[in-house]
Amino acid sequence: MKALEIADKLIQTTDADDSELLFLLKNRTPELEHRLQQAAQQTAIRHYGRNVFIRGLIEFTSYCKNDCYYCGLRRSNACAERYRLTEEEILSCCESGYEYGFRTFVLQGGEDAFFTDERLCSIVRRIRERFSDCAITLSVGERSEESYRALFRAGANRYLLRHETATDRHYKVLHPAEMTLENRLNCLDALRSIGYQVGCGIMVGSPGQTTADIVRDLRYMKQFRPHMVGIGPFIPHKDTPFKDKAAGTAQDTVFLLSIVRLMLPEVLLPATTALGTILPNGRELGIQHGANVVMPNLSPQNVRKKYMLYDNKLSAGAEAAESLRLLEESLKTIGYEIAVSRGDSLIK
Ligand code: SAM
Repeated sequence: MKALEIADKLIQTTDADDSELLFLLKNRTPELEHRLQQAAQQTAIRHYGRNVFIRGLIEFTSYCKNDCYYCGLRRSNACAERYRLTEEEILSCCESGYEYGFRTFVLQGGEDAFFTDERLCSIVRRIRERFSDCAITLSVGERSEESYRALFRAGANRYLLRHETATDRHYKVLHPAEMTLENRLNCLDALRSIGYQVGCGIMVGSPGQTTADIVRDLRYMKQFRPHMVGIGPFIPHKDTPFKDKAAGTAQDTVFLLSIVRLMLPEVLLPATTALGTILPNGRELGIQHGANVVMPNLSPQNVRKKYMLYDNKLSAGAEAAESLRLLEESLKTIGYEIAVSRGDSLIK
């Protein structure tokens, strides 16, 4: 089968065999990219309209016990400036976020032992009490099933945990031996069975990633049926072992966004900050390739530069929650508008 025929099969049936996906990824042409882009954008519009859901991202701790080779927050990065927000500061981020129109708060951080279940549950409970009409998303890495359960009971609804790669060999390239793909995937299974809306995902162009690895990622996503998928380019950080590695490209990222939209038509798909960082109009391009979520930064201004996962990470302009008008304007130019709603996934 030729690439365009495979594309049509993907568009019509929401799937293709692994060998066909591999062929598609290896035989890109402008015509193929265009066909997938058009179909992906139409699919997103069919399910969610010309709406973009916004999530207020609160990066509440830059401490991390892990040592992922790609991440600027890794424990071995002695140059990283560490901070953690207090419960009151987090609540006050939510207050301003609610005023701006956010109805989802994403609490993201490194794996910081300071945030025991007791502390984190207390924060979640207070947000839940104060903002009963909002969704609370957590993105705090690997924890025990018990912990995930307690946080869910406290009022968290969603959880973002990128699987990073579905290939064991590649997982080992990206992480030290103390971290395993098996544990990561077990966490995702646990989260889903507890009742969270779950997001997995990958970095595009991360060191050691092969095209076959990406096919396994797509297969994993198709089988897992996550409510959300986070896909952004890998971008090197100057104080990590991957400092000299090449960044993933915007072109590869948006191509993959289209394929994911077509394989999981109802998924919530963010146009990530990383995509906006490597390309000035990356966020808009992502939306035109089937993305339908953006996550502006709601963290206090004075800590934003300290949550540096990769070099030059954006946190100003349309990336900043307080500048929602800028985002609104730029989305308007491509025919979209911001939805003031929780923006739940259609996937149940
Ligand atoms: N600690 C939590 C976890 O592991 O899920 C949440 C925070 S972690 C920093 C969030 C995501 O940032 C990771 O899943 C990873 O994909 C992404 N990330 C980290 N370093 C990156 C880099 N250099 N380039 C692009 N994305 C990166």
